[in-house]
Amino acid sequence: MNIQKKEVYSFQSEVKQILHLMIHSLYSNKEIFLRELISNASDAIDKLRFQSISNTELYENDNNLKIQISINKSQKTIIISDNGIGMTRQDTIENLGTIAKSGTKSFLKSLEKKQNNIKNELIGEFGVGFYSSFIVSRKVSVRTRLAGSKSDQGVLWESSGEGEYNITTVMKKQKGTEITLFLKKEEEEFLELWRIQNIISKYSDHITVPIQIQKYDEKNKTYFWEQINKATALWIQNKSSISEKEYQDFYKHLTNDQNNPIFWSHNHVEGINEYISLLFIPEKAAWDIWNRENKYGLKLYVKRVYIMDNAQEFLPNYLRFIRGLIDSNHLPLNVSREILQDNSITQNLKKALIKRSLKMLETLAKNDDKKYQQFWNQFGLVLKEGPAEDSKNLNTIIKLLRFTSIQNNTSEQTLSLEKYISNMHPNQEKIYYITADSYTSAKNSPHLELFNKKNIDVLLLSDRIDEWMMNYITEFEGKKIQSISKDDESLNKLIKEKEKKQETSVEITEFLKKAKTTLGEKVKSIRLTHRLTDTPCIVLSDSNEMSTQMAKLFTAAGQAVPELKYIFEINPNHDLIKKICKINETKKFDEWINFLLDQALFAEKGSLENPHQFISRINKLILEQ
Ligand code: ADP
Ligand code: MG
Repeated sequence: MNIQKKEVYSFQSEVKQILHLMIHSLYSNKEIFLRELISNASDAIDKLRFQSISNTELYENDNNLKIQISINKSQKTIIISDNGIGMTRQDTIENLGTIAKSGTKSFLKSLEKKQNNIKNELIGEFGVGFYSSFIVSRKVSVRTRLAGSKSDQGVLWESSGEGEYNITTVMKKQKGTEITLFLKKEEEEFLELWRIQNIISKYSDHITVPIQIQKYDEKNKTYFWEQINKATALWIQNKSSISEKEYQDFYKHLTNDQNNPIFWSHNHVEGINEYISLLFIPEKAAWDIWNRENKYGLKLYVKRVYIMDNAQEFLPNYLRFIRGLIDSNHLPLNVSREILQDNSITQNLKKALIKRSLKMLETLAKNDDKKYQQFWNQFGLVLKEGPAEDSKNLNTIIKLLRFTSIQNNTSEQTLSLEKYISNMHPNQEKIYYITADSYTSAKNSPHLELFNKKNIDVLLLSDRIDEWMMNYITEFEGKKIQSISKDDESLNKLIKEKEKKQETSVEITEFLKKAKTTLGEKVKSIRLTHRLTDTPCIVLSDSNEMSTQMAKLFTAAGQAVPELKYIFEINPNHDLIKKICKINETKKFDEWINFLLDQALFAEKGSLENPHQFISRINKLILEQ
């Protein structure tokens, strides 16, 4: 053999950290190393199949693609080999010495504070793949050669998982990769054939590549290979022949998620747009669901041939929590991301898959309140991006939204708009909502006083995205949707004439006149209101102006916002107003009226431009009592 000098390399620091976690047996179920290595071998065979569509020479006259596993008891090794795509020297450095995933650093950082069992779960989800071989091995060696290369020269990559690895050139006749695990002393249970066979059937039955295991024929004193998986794609099978457990196992294999999915939808569609789709709703949000750079999307197959992971073209952003696959009969086999982006078949498939996904959510909502709530608590915030992103399906999306409200009486978002409408007051024309920074602040807003009194329900919105979302939801089932912190005619109709007639004395008319002079341009207008009970005054945004919450969002995003001018409303029945009415001294009256405006602004915005002035004014007014 033509063995060259060894070259020694150091692992990327993130890899060192991961290896450290692995070696110090973070995993409670060590056996997953086999799942990971088989999954890599199967990916390598998928890649070969895909690339050989345009270059059949990659097969090197060996198209009997398979994964083989053998155990050597005397050497205490397990060998996993595949005749897939293989790797070059540079590939081994990039793939086995670094982690390319974006967000790895922040992921590792977030692990530091977590408990062990949560770490386990997260790291499994993150998919540390190849490195899991070090859970059970004191040394790992990888012999590999890229399919289609001109010579038999391959690469030998070796490491004991402690900071460094080395690379040598070796001869390798067969294309693909052969991984040898030199087991740690305490992990020798994995040298038992039945154990390995069990693990494979547990995790890898749905691998579409044949997996063979080496056995010994006692009679003939020879070794032979036995295939131990079905090697048929689960999704092409008939729905009725697939058990719940098989779907769950397949999901875990597909996603690396260790939890079962809460729901799925499997469809064989014929006709002009022939495809099979298998969509899952996970139980928990992936750790990187809010990482904008991160890839999401379905696994794409064309006529059963694996094409790519994370094909984002089939689902919109707001459905990015859905995992699964699409197998199209009409896309070309040589499809690339560029072709996908600009393709009418893709467009049609996307439309169909959005419908399927929404239908799946509707079914879940209809049939299983508890599970739907579990889904909403995990992914509601993502789905709330829907109204802005997908106006075509707006009505369906609205039905899937969940809110909390005054009468809902819990901060948990459990109320649908359909239910809100069915509980509407006979005189109520519109669906009312309020947005605030928090549930508590929304629930205690003075804007709600009238609604509490009249027993009319109001949606309480306090997620950051809500204000933005409500811009896109203006109507539902013929009912207008109205913010109660904005000026609105329908509110007046809720107040009985009798209530309005009270208290329009000379004193209060005079009060309004003087207040107008004092405040001048500070407010848009000033008027009496009959919607307050315990609060002396309130501010409202004009119906065509930017709302307070929206202005806050803009400001937080660093954008300039025009100065907000409010309608200032006074509750003539409040004792404080009655008291101020009696003040004749102009300077003192001015102090009081400015104080009233400031407190209304404070309640509305949660902050004041000049809090110091507000406080010293209160102190002064108290001392004068
Ligand atoms: P992942 O599979 O999520 O990419 P892994 O750590 O399991 O992460 O593998 C890292 C990379 O190493 C793979 O993406 C692949 O490029 C390469 N690799 C691992 N095993 C094989 C193999 N048997 N054949 C070819 N490439 C492999
Ligand atoms: Mg992998």
